[in-house]
Amino acid sequence: MRNESLASHSSYQIGGKANFFAMPESIEELLTLLQGCRAHGLDFFFCGMGSNLLFPDNPREDTLYISLKKFVYWDIQPTHWFISSGTPMSMLALSGLMFGISGYEFTYLLPGGLGAGIYMNAKYNHHQISDIIQTVYYVDLADPSLSMQSIDVSDCKYGYKQSIFQMNPWLVLGADMKAVPDLERIPEGNELLTRWKEKEGMSTLQAFYSYMGEEASALMKQGVAIPTDMSDIANYRNGKRHFEYPSCGSVFKNNYDYGVPVGALVDRLNLKGKEHGGAMISPYHGNMIINHNHATAEDIKYLMNTIIEGVNTAFGFEPEPEVVLVK
Ligand SMILES: Cc1cc2nc3c(=O)[nH]c(=O)nc-3n(C[C@H](O)[C@H](O)[C@H](O)COP(=O)(O)OP(=O)(O)OC[C@H]3O[C@@H](n4cnc5c(N)ncnc54)[C@H](O)[C@@H]3O)c2cc1C
Repeated sequence: MRNESLASHSSYQIGGKANFFAMPESIEELLTLLQGCRAHGLDFFFCGMGSNLLFPDNPREDTLYISLKKFVYWDIQPTHWFISSGTPMSMLALSGLMFGISGYEFTYLLPGGLGAGIYMNAKYNHHQISDIIQTVYYVDLADPSLSMQSIDVSDCKYGYKQSIFQMNPWLVLGADMKAVPDLERIPEGNELLTRWKEKEGMSTLQAFYSYMGEEASALMKQGVAIPTDMSDIANYRNGKRHFEYPSCGSVFKNNYDYGVPVGALVDRLNLKGKEHGGAMISPYHGNMIINHNHATAEDIKYLMNTIIEGVNTAFGFEPEPEVVLVK
């Protein structure tokens, strides 16, 4: 695809037009694209659902931006359950209910695909993606053969929002989960995934939220009990207005050595509600900067710097960005 708006592939709804853009649906298509980049001397950048990144206002001409949003499938066997990296993490919570697997509830309404979840070690409260996966499959982009490799979760150097995948040029293809579904429920689980795949181009947070809520309601109508963990998540995220405006969720990682969440420090600095251009520090959550009114990437970065400088001056450390600033 040429001249594709990156804004429509980001939950921030920010980003200029990409000269080159692709959405592969299979490993074969993915590898062909990578080989094409090498042959034509193009750089590339991978994204999942674009919910933890800030695309540039003026994307680089010589870069192929590759979205894994359509790289969605799973393979269920009696001994393993492989899930590809483009599959939304929130789908795990729903499929867990359907397949009788507990422990996936924390992924409900967590924006993003599994590949980035594995890369970022996405988390909610005390639960994280590294708790539920067993083996990760990836391609080492530095290896000329681009062959598929695998690594056990115990070797992935997981920590708070950290993994071995951030330390290496590795593209996550997907993972085997620790649990294996009830084989009798596979047809219904597959229907869940097929319905998601039919939702072409769903990129806004509101659309994501409505879709997952409707699927959860449909399960309830079938007599499936929705655990309180999941309704608590919906209440929390609604209370913090997570899906009201375009955003990337929390902009900064918390500094556990300091012991106070960045959002609370921003609150102490009276920065909530501060605006610059079309961007605003969320009045409801000090660690979120929202696209309030046609913000640019530069507007968001301006407020990020305001927070970094304010926290450094008042509390003596620079908060580390969690959002990925794409060149
Ligand atoms: C409203 C809101 C609430 C949020 N709440 C939370 C929360 O509670 N907890 C939390 O952890 N996060 C949260 N996030 C952030 C986000 O959901 C996660 O970081 C998620 O893992 C990002 O997934 P993505 O597919 O959108 O990744 P993207 O934003 O598309 O990409 C993020 C990074 O991952 C890399 N990447 C993507 N796919 C791959 C791959 N297959 N292999 C290697 N690298 C890859 C990209 O290159 C990029 O560097 C929230 C975001 C929003 C908008």
